[in-house]
Amino acid sequence: MVSSFKEKGPENPPKKRYENLINGDWMAPSDDEYFVTSDPATNEPIAEVARATAGDVDAAVTAAREAFPGWRDTGPPTRGRRIHRVAELIREYEDELAELESIDQGKPLSQAKSDIKGAARYFEYYAGAADKLEGKSIPVGPDQVDFTVREPYGVSAQIIPWNFPANLFARGVAPALAAGNAVVVKPAPTTPLSAYRMAQLCFEAGIPEAAVNVVAGGGETGAALTAHEGVNTITFTGSVTTGQAVMEAASENITPVTLELGGKNPAIVYPDADVSEAVDSISTAIFTNAGQICSAADRALVHADVYDEFVEQIVTVAESYQLGPGLDDPEMGPLNSEGHWKKVRRYIDIGRTEGATLATGGTTTEEEGEGWFVPPTVFTDVDNDMQIAQEEVFGPVLVVVPFDDNDDVVRLANDVEYGLTAGIFTNDVRRAHRVAREIEAGNVYVNKWFGDTDQTPFGGYKKSGIGREKGLEALDSYLQTKNIAINLTRSTSDDLPGA
Ligand code: NAD
Repeated sequence: MVSSFKEKGPENPPKKRYENLINGDWMAPSDDEYFVTSDPATNEPIAEVARATAGDVDAAVTAAREAFPGWRDTGPPTRGRRIHRVAELIREYEDELAELESIDQGKPLSQAKSDIKGAARYFEYYAGAADKLEGKSIPVGPDQVDFTVREPYGVSAQIIPWNFPANLFARGVAPALAAGNAVVVKPAPTTPLSAYRMAQLCFEAGIPEAAVNVVAGGGETGAALTAHEGVNTITFTGSVTTGQAVMEAASENITPVTLELGGKNPAIVYPDADVSEAVDSISTAIFTNAGQICSAADRALVHADVYDEFVEQIVTVAESYQLGPGLDDPEMGPLNSEGHWKKVRRYIDIGRTEGATLATGGTTTEEEGEGWFVPPTVFTDVDNDMQIAQEEVFGPVLVVVPFDDNDDVVRLANDVEYGLTAGIFTNDVRRAHRVAREIEAGNVYVNKWFGDTDQTPFGGYKKSGIGREKGLEALDSYLQTKNIAINLTRSTSDDLPGA
């Protein structure tokens, strides 16, 4: 949770102070304002963090601009080796990073370790791409040589949410650096800590210090970064509303944006599905990280023939979860902040008011200081038009919508403004192929969930975003194409535009 240091008071001081990390130096914020990041399981302050001002953001962008030409011109094999070294260091410091992430974010330690391993994988994967960023030769005829080169943009702004802080740092920073860009990272105000450590590991690996800068803060810091004319490309992961603000700010300087936004992801369970396999996948996909996952399976569309069996099994699984502080490595930790806990509670109230059946969960700790816990919650008898079926709750709340028309369920699945992920549970291979094509989502899983890896493109249709992260496609967000045409003969007046 975030509160200002002054509000928290000196009687319960945080253990540590983090300044802005600019040009490899710890720099105090220009207006001397700090905020506190706390353990969401206990509400105990962990650290005091510099709130970067517009002036601090300007210093970070200036440092990155100065570092850019040197990093761009570093030979691709050297760039790749240093990026690979970052991965080795992340693996070496896995325990430390996972503990930091677990206490700051709230997630169970084993899930934090999995995130950190994933962060290392991004650096490994993109390290291998650094010397393969090839252009192409275009056969325009004997009198001209025509080819393309792929060049980095310059300064990449990385705006990161609080659900997978270190992992999403790596998802954006690794391809940005591999392509030769310098970065300015703005972590989310409730989970800034792992970003500083990841940046330090980049320095240790030989990435120029000014090429990776970290400025923490909330919306104002993010807005100063996205509106900065020295930023050449923006990667934003977060909510649709903030994504819209980022796009608007970016329009001032025509800065390209990659937006990874929310989802309300359908999991269709057909009557021929293996129900226990579907329950296993869907429960993991909605209750991991306390449901704070953009690609969570948060809307199950279940055929009437298997509905009762599905509900009975998933309620049993939901009720088996043990909750506790992340560092104790329970099955589920707290939500990340008080503000988010209030939002999830509000949606649970909305579900009740709308007439959905609360099959399990829904209770939350009432008193401040007990941590921001919400148990696995399942709403059944949900109508797809209800607010809890249309809007992203971003918590451990599954809505189960019954259906009985196999031909109509794809319409229901697509009947939301989002289009991030979707799952199909069926043993009919023809249906799986056909429905996978009809679903409006960037990622479709069949008889599993979270089928994407660091090697596969990930991103949204509709309001879930623009552009793709992961895989080689992510590099398109960090490279621009230049076409070079070289005349081999004497120029003629026939060379007219539009010819
Ligand atoms: P958020 O939009 O509130 O904040 C995201 C980041 O933007 C934070 O760092 C925040 O400080 C910053 N920010 C806030 N106002 C800003 C502004 N005006 N200009 C620039 N930056 C600003 O989102 P959140 O609550 O931190 O994250 C949850 C959301 O993120 C959910 O909707 C979730 O689905 C989405 N998400 C998407 C993906 C994906 O890959 N598609 C991954 C993780 C999370």
